[in-house]
Amino acid sequence: MRSLVNISDKLSSKEINPTMQRIKIYEYLYGNKSHPTVDTVFVNVHKEFPTLSKATVYNTLNLFVEKNLIQEISIEGNESRYDYNLTNHGHFKCKTCGSITDFKITKNVLNDTNIKGFRAEEQHIYIKGVCKDCIV
Ligand SMILES: [Zn+2]
Ligand SMILES: [Zn+2]
Repeated sequence: MRSLVNISDKLSSKEINPTMQRIKIYEYLYGNKSHPTVDTVFVNVHKEFPTLSKATVYNTLNLFVEKNLIQEISIEGNESRYDYNLTNHGHFKCKTCGSITDFKITKNVLNDTNIKGFRAEEQHIYIKGVCKDCIV
């Protein structure tokens, strides 16, 4: 999955032209389960790709979200983070170190919603607390 050829196929299957920059950005997201922000993606991919601009990173992430390749999550106000994991999962944010960790959701609240006439499409479960590395 990590190989460039596979990423390229994956982008093509979503009707995204697989340019080298886009491949590198997707590869970074896939290899980092830390739910990076635009800035984090930019700083890291830019090291390998000095011609990359922040606007390109921003546009690429938006395109990936639009094409359902990744999801955008915002836990705190205006801070968008990007997640390649599209399966239904919750996020635990550590108040001490700021890390965001995935956890499994065993109950699918989405299927349980019974507000008459409404169609539920997304569920976001966020928990805030202290991660195990910060509990000493
Ligand atoms: Zn922590
Ligand atoms: Zn996640």
